[in-house]
Amino acid sequence: MLSIPASRPNAYTGSPLDRVSNLRDDAEALAGFLRSPDALFAPVWHGRNLLRGAAENRPEAVFLSPDAAQAVRMAGGPWALLGLWDGRPVFAVDCSAAEDPLPLLPEGMGSLLDLRGLAGLLPAGEASILAHARGLMHWRTRHRFCGVCGHGCEPRSAGNAMACPNCGAQHFPRTDPAVIMLVTDGARCLLGHSARFPAATMYSTLAGFVEPGESLEEAVRREVLEESAIRVGEVRYHSSQPWPFPASIMLGFHAEALSEAITVDPNELRDARWFTRDEVRDPEAAGFSLPRVDSIARRLIEDWLENTP
Ligand SMILES: [Zn+2]
Repeated sequence: MLSIPASRPNAYTGSPLDRVSNLRDDAEALAGFLRSPDALFAPVWHGRNLLRGAAENRPEAVFLSPDAAQAVRMAGGPWALLGLWDGRPVFAVDCSAAEDPLPLLPEGMGSLLDLRGLAGLLPAGEASILAHARGLMHWRTRHRFCGVCGHGCEPRSAGNAMACPNCGAQHFPRTDPAVIMLVTDGARCLLGHSARFPAATMYSTLAGFVEPGESLEEAVRREVLEESAIRVGEVRYHSSQPWPFPASIMLGFHAEALSEAITVDPNELRDARWFTRDEVRDPEAAGFSLPRVDSIARRLIEDWLENTP
């Protein structure tokens, strides 16, 4: 099977931030960043990011100045240093404790929106920073207590880690690996429809979480076999995509089918079918729709179409 290169970067990648992990435990540097009049704060409210221009299809991230951020920081939610952007400190601040944070902010700051679906329209790098903020604040708001002894934890490393003062355990942000794969038999590709998909006509690549003690290739073969009964041979890596919805990274593959007969696991999928190249090139004519353009699933499908005869 041909190795198919990634034709362009995936959405949510390409962050302009220097994560300065070496400075996270430097109290003096951190105090300086917090005092900096140039600091930028990315608020997160129940997993939503602050954006403006979305209604006009020209969304852009809204960052708060230290003064504007003070009101939402007073709510006492977690915050963390994300990094430096051309030397300017960038923080994430969770304001979920506020019933509605918008009245706390200067007027016309934008709306709190779900980042999914807007990523492809945002200026380069902004989707990545907002995804970073969302993912880290999700972890912070849901891992407040020690998983070892149950005691309340305290933030460390400028909000990028948690430590238990009772038993000494340290806790770090979680990123759960998920494999996502386009299975092909050369001429056709295997796509499935799940009840969880946003559109009733949408067919997409199969996907699933990696389990403990499993390689990525093994996870690809197991998930495809479980969901469709198709046996998979060769597995080739394509690209990855941060997917903080809420806490994953998508690891994309092309995989070679060794069998043809599909049996769908009804707990996972409503349907799965083989689609020819012509059908995938013109899904409307074939009566289905493809996943969103900012998804790695779409990249796997398009790169297969463009790079194989
Ligand atoms: Zn503990």
